[in-house]
Amino acid sequence: MTAPLGEFDLIARYFTRPARRAFLGVGDDCALLPAPAADEQLAISSDMLVEGRHFLPGADSEALGHKALAVNLSDLAAVGARPHAFTLAMALPEADARWLEGFARGLFALADAHDIELIGGDTTRGPRNLCLTVLGLVPRGQALLRSGAQPGDDLWVSGTVGDARLALGHRLGEWALDAPTQAATFLRMDRPTPRVTLGLALRGLAHAAIDVSDGLLADLGHILRQSRVGAVVQADDCPASASLRDQPLMRRRLCQLAGGDDYELLFTAPPAARAAVTVAAAQAITPVTRIGRIDAEPGLRLIDASGQVLDNVYAGFDHFRMP
Ligand code: ADP
Ligand code: MG
Repeated sequence: MTAPLGEFDLIARYFTRPARRAFLGVGDDCALLPAPAADEQLAISSDMLVEGRHFLPGADSEALGHKALAVNLSDLAAVGARPHAFTLAMALPEADARWLEGFARGLFALADAHDIELIGGDTTRGPRNLCLTVLGLVPRGQALLRSGAQPGDDLWVSGTVGDARLALGHRLGEWALDAPTQAATFLRMDRPTPRVTLGLALRGLAHAAIDVSDGLLADLGHILRQSRVGAVVQADDCPASASLRDQPLMRRRLCQLAGGDDYELLFTAPPAARAAVTVAAAQAITPVTRIGRIDAEPGLRLIDASGQVLDNVYAGFDHFRMP
């Protein structure tokens, strides 16, 4: 048995790497970073993952390290910001070296892939809770906002949506998936891909954007309210993975329209920008699909392939409204 890890050994061993961007990184009372250039703005966002709420006890720590950063990078993607630096505040029930090794591996693999630097944080004993704050940079005035959608805009979504909800349903016992479908959808739920490159490529093209974390229609609702517009959504045009295409129609719709945790980008852009959006998506190696349009008339109208209006029963997740 080796001696138990103390708080400062733990920080030094797993979370301290040479500072690059920071003048001063992990180890002092504050991190020090150069201020952004005069023509740039800082984009800042925090997201917390709580055991029992966002992940199940016993979840693989490498996947958690990935996901904790991925969901934060997704917020930078949604405003079109370039990842810059982040902090990590964590509560852990114990200093378990194997858990920490896996967590740090997952975290830094994604951090290095996006060239974002860990500059500090806090570590305390408690129920497992991972809270990251990310800093990004965006040219002044070019951030993609929820409030910029305009009547006549196309509504687009990246990748495919619904797989994370399909995986969750299996884990909750709502339905049973075969082994290959479990493998494919668990990967989507546990190791989401933040659409950072696409977000950057959409600057100057998209009028509004949000990342899909609570559910496609719920997150669209934020764009509609903040832009004071409405939308028509073609329910069955939502891009689905092969796993989801094999599911019964009602389940597929539920997963795609109400399911969260996909971390795709939902955005609007004028029809004149269609070709440019397609080029941007190709450059970002991220498929995008048109699923509707923005209207001046407030509210959300959901229609099927024959133009029939569907009831919108697809509210998204709300931590204080749901059990
Ligand atoms: P203070 O008591 O001044 O808040 P701490 O003793 O909590 O400082 O932390 C010591 C140093 O380690 C600080 O630079 C802090 O930013 C950093 N730090 C603490 N926990 C983490 C972590 N999980 N990841 C990265 N840096 C951390
Ligand atoms: Mg502290």
